[in-house]
Amino acid sequence: MSQNILVCGGAGYIGSHMVRLLRRSGHAVTVFDNFSQGHQAALPDDVSVIEGDLCDPQALVRAFAAGPFDAVYHFAALISVGESVTAPDLYYRNNVVGALNLLDAMRGAGCDRIVFSSTAAIFGNPETDLIDESHRRAPLNPYGWSKLMMEQILADYAQAFGVRSVSFRYFNAAGADPAGAIGEAHDPETHLIPNILLSAMGVRPGLEIFGDDYDTRDGTCVRDYIHVNDIASAHLAALDLMDAEPGAHAFNLGNGRGFTNLDVIDAAREVTGRDIPMRVGPRRPGDAAMLVADSTKARNRLDWTPELPDIRDIMKTAWTWHQAPAYGPFAVERTAERIAK
Ligand code: UDP
Repeated sequence: MSQNILVCGGAGYIGSHMVRLLRRSGHAVTVFDNFSQGHQAALPDDVSVIEGDLCDPQALVRAFAAGPFDAVYHFAALISVGESVTAPDLYYRNNVVGALNLLDAMRGAGCDRIVFSSTAAIFGNPETDLIDESHRRAPLNPYGWSKLMMEQILADYAQAFGVRSVSFRYFNAAGADPAGAIGEAHDPETHLIPNILLSAMGVRPGLEIFGDDYDTRDGTCVRDYIHVNDIASAHLAALDLMDAEPGAHAFNLGNGRGFTNLDVIDAAREVTGRDIPMRVGPRRPGDAAMLVADSTKARNRLDWTPELPDIRDIMKTAWTWHQAPAYGPFAVERTAERIAK
C-alpha cells in the first residue's frame, strides 16, 4: 500500500538513495532538508521539498502541515567522528535537540512511526570481533553518544507515547546508486572511500591514513563497508516491521567482513587502475580500531539480504559516480576550490 513519507535529510547521501527507493516502491515523498550538506540536484522532480532546519520548530510545523505522514525517515544529522570531538556542542544540538524537535513535531501531528539513522560508533571499541545488537554500548566520541542518546529517547518515547521506531546502526555506508545519478559528496569530504577516489582522480592529492599502530592485521583501522542501496532496502522493510510490532527496534547493518584502511586502498587501486599515493599520519581522535557487524538479526527479522556485499563491487559503484557527469559540477569543483583556498 502506498504511504506518505517525510524524509528528513532526503537530499543527503543516504537520504537521497532512500528517496529513490521509496519512489520506486510507489510511496509519496516529501523531503525536509537544510541543504547544509544535501544537494538539490540529488532530488527527483516528483518529490515535494521543504527547506528547513530541525533546530527551527517553526520549520517543522511547516513540514507537518504538508502531511499527514504515515512515517518519518530521519537522516538529517552531523556525521563526522573527528569533528564531533572538537565541536560536541554542534553534535548534541543538531543530533539530539534537532531530533527531539522532530519527535515532538511528529507527536503534535499524530505521526507515530520513525526510522532513525544510528551508527556503529555507539559500540566504541568492541569486545568481540563481530558486533551484534546485544553488545555493550560505549561510544568513544560525541557523535556516537548523540546517536546512543537518541536510541534511548526512542525507547522511552515508545513506552510513554507509543512511538514506533526502528534504529539502524550503519557500519560504513559506501558506494553509490549504480545508475550514476546520485552518490556520496560531502564538503568537506572526510570519509575514506571518497577521499581515496578523489586522490585517484588527482583532485585531492595527499591522502592521509590516520594511524597504523592499531592492534589490527596491518595496524590500520578495520571497518565493515555496506552499500548505500542495501542500507536503503533495510529501511524499506522497516515500514512493515513497525506495522506488525510496536516498540523501539534496533538493527546492526553491515556485511560482516572487515577491511583495513590499506585493504580499501588496494581495492580502489584494483578498481580504478590508478596510482593512489598516500601517507600515514597520526590517529584521528575518536576512532575505534575495529567495527564489524553481525547482521543476523536484520537478515532474519527483516528478511534482508545485501545485494552488493563485495567491497570491489561497492567500490565500482562509487568510482562510476565519481566519474559521472552528475558528480562534477557540485562536488569535484567545490572540493578543488576549497583546497585551493
Ligand atoms: N580515514 C583515513 N583517512 C581519511 C578518511 C578516513 O585514514 O581521509 C580512516 C578513519 O580514520 C577510519 C576509516 O578510515 O579508520 C573510516 O573512516 P570514515 O570517516 O570513512 O568512517 P567512520 O568509520 O569514521 O564512520
